[in-house]
Amino acid sequence: MSAVEPNVPGSAPLLRIENLKKTFSIPTTLFRKPLTLTALEDINFTVEKGETLGIVGESGCGKSTLGRCILQLISPDEGKVLWLGQDLTELKPEEMRKRRQDLQIIFQDPLASLNPRMTVGEIISDPLRTLRPDLSRTERRARIIRMMEAVGLLPEMINRYPHEFSGGQAQRIGIARALITEPKLIVCDEPVSALDVSIQAQILNLLSELKDEFGLTLVFISHDLSVVRHVSDRILVLYLGRIAELASGEMLYTDPKHPYTRALLTAVPIPDPKRARMRDVEELMGEVPSPINPPSGCHFRTRCRYAIEKCAAIIPPLEEIPGGRLVACHRWKEID
Ligand code: SF4
Repeated sequence: MSAVEPNVPGSAPLLRIENLKKTFSIPTTLFRKPLTLTALEDINFTVEKGETLGIVGESGCGKSTLGRCILQLISPDEGKVLWLGQDLTELKPEEMRKRRQDLQIIFQDPLASLNPRMTVGEIISDPLRTLRPDLSRTERRARIIRMMEAVGLLPEMINRYPHEFSGGQAQRIGIARALITEPKLIVCDEPVSALDVSIQAQILNLLSELKDEFGLTLVFISHDLSVVRHVSDRILVLYLGRIAELASGEMLYTDPKHPYTRALLTAVPIPDPKRARMRDVEELMGEVPSPINPPSGCHFRTRCRYAIEKCAAIIPPLEEIPGGRLVACHRWKEID
């Protein structure tokens, strides 16, 4: 079993993920057994109240699957999702429905995630239909208006339809919908990757303002380290369903330990001459291998310039190293 972050005595983390595993069965031809895709394995981490945890990795590394397991939109095969100490994987559907008020999601493609036949007011208030049926019509409308104002939409837009909005405005609608139940934690799944660069900064700034205003905790998923860096207190790097590294944003950027993190960083502008020199030699090579048939031992070994024989034979454990950070690499001490 990998290292589990130590608990601070007397303070249970808001969210604790323990030994999470998720596989998918992939159908093949009629007479052959389905293949197994391991999307997540041996995932352990915590999220503290008020924190923003960035989750980063290339497409196909399991980031969105992890976000959906946290929210119980899909069930993990093994492991626990402890919300304030309560294991969400063991809750009955009715109990989980009550918990949903605390746990919301913002999706990647804002326009595609909004029902084109519903008005903005209906979209934003939709979660309240099932989660807060006790609210009166007037209370519901007051909440919608408050959320529209909080995300920078004019209340007079309440009866408009999604196609009348730009991508950035549509994402503001998605954020208002996530906020309306007054959640404690929001999983932001690539919330700006479908937007123009100029709009991305506006949405990132909005999310960090709302985090302060509403006392939110965020899990921020992105394939882009420069986006995650902008918003995260700590960053978890995923590679082919396993944690490669977990550290504070500052440590990860100034002193990355895992070769995969170092390779991802070559794509991010950093005003550091030492790291700039590293760029040419550490650039990420090739594609992510198929998670149906990942490399033996360390999954990153086929793209790692530091790989040795041991890397093909033994999966590197996730070790706690000085600075309270976690890294899964046999050679992290030798790499600088
Ligand atoms: Fe590279 Fe080996 Fe470390 Fe994996 S364990 S990242 S292959 S050096």
